[in-house]
Amino acid sequence: MHYENVVDLKVTQVDQSRIDQVDFDNLMFGKTCSDHMMICDYEDGEWKTPEIIPYGPMLMEPSAKVFHYGQAVFEGMKSYKDGDGKVWLFRPQQNFERINTSAKRMAIPEFPKEYFFSALEKLLNLDYEWIKPGIGNSLYLRPFVIATENGVSASPSNKYRFMIITAPAKAYYEGSVKVIFAEEYSRSADGGVGFAKAAGNYGAQFYPTNLAKAEGFDQIIWTDADTHEYLEEAGTMNIFFRIGDSLVTAPTNDRILDGVTRKSIIALAEEKGIDVQVRRVSVKEIKDAARAGELKEIFGAGTAAVVVPVSAFRHGGEDFELPQLENSYAKQLKANLLDIQYNRAEDPFGWRYEVEIEK
Ligand SMILES: *Cc1c(COP(=O)(O)O)cnc(C)c1O
Repeated sequence: MHYENVVDLKVTQVDQSRIDQVDFDNLMFGKTCSDHMMICDYEDGEWKTPEIIPYGPMLMEPSAKVFHYGQAVFEGMKSYKDGDGKVWLFRPQQNFERINTSAKRMAIPEFPKEYFFSALEKLLNLDYEWIKPGIGNSLYLRPFVIATENGVSASPSNKYRFMIITAPAKAYYEGSVKVIFAEEYSRSADGGVGFAKAAGNYGAQFYPTNLAKAEGFDQIIWTDADTHEYLEEAGTMNIFFRIGDSLVTAPTNDRILDGVTRKSIIALAEEKGIDVQVRRVSVKEIKDAARAGELKEIFGAGTAAVVVPVSAFRHGGEDFELPQLENSYAKQLKANLLDIQYNRAEDPFGWRYEVEIEK
């Protein structure tokens, strides 16, 4: 698919690209940004004309509301280059809709679709060389919105800034992770903002995640805030369990983020004829299945890391190991997904979006 209604943006290009200073073999995720960024301000009740300018620092008032009340949302998506130099996005309409869903919950005005797609197309043209071909390589795209009005009164801002910055990325995690099931802390609660990519959701995870790391784990699997009996999400990923040959994942709700990778994995698994069950999964069910030898896999799924297998988990002071499978669902589904994203396979679902490169 392709979005046709592209508008012209004001563009100020860099005098000299920084690309020669970048070691593409040793990238820290999200650390090095490409040459350009998109910036668009909301004032007097409307989004002004978006602009593309050189990436760099910006001046803001210390009283800007984002610094005090965390009125901010973001998205995470990737662009991919295939062997012929064509550039692809993966289901970008989903990210566009979701940033506005997140924005609405945070009382931020909706951003226009033609600006979103026009900015992506233009950025990817300007920073085309920053997108490296090869499986695992991508240019990570980070659209976000911040409340920029000055004044520390606790009320929604009347001014916002929508930006898109981009950063070259290599595969995020390699290998598997050890996790701990949350028994005390929570990521989100009923009626809260867990379904939104709201900045504060992530800030609140850092402390409990640090505690888990101090015990030798990589990540926390979040459980429901009420009872801590049901498994909901993996850090910043959705989570899947393979019990026997069935793939089980929690339904989305206002505590669980509706991941694009999650729904794509569900569709791919169903297409392969795997029995997929979208239902609540209890800690007890998973521990019982592990003891009975029926728990074959746990994996997380999200844009940044794609699919991350879990090798071990802890709950209630008990440690469990997962078997190392040769032909795991995690491996198969990740390969299927990457093949679609990198234009190496048929795209039966129409998920790929070709970026028009003007050369
Ligand atoms: C972004 C995110 C995900 C994964 O969403 P994708 O669209 O697959 O990248 C899952 N959980 C949380 C909490 C997230 O923020």
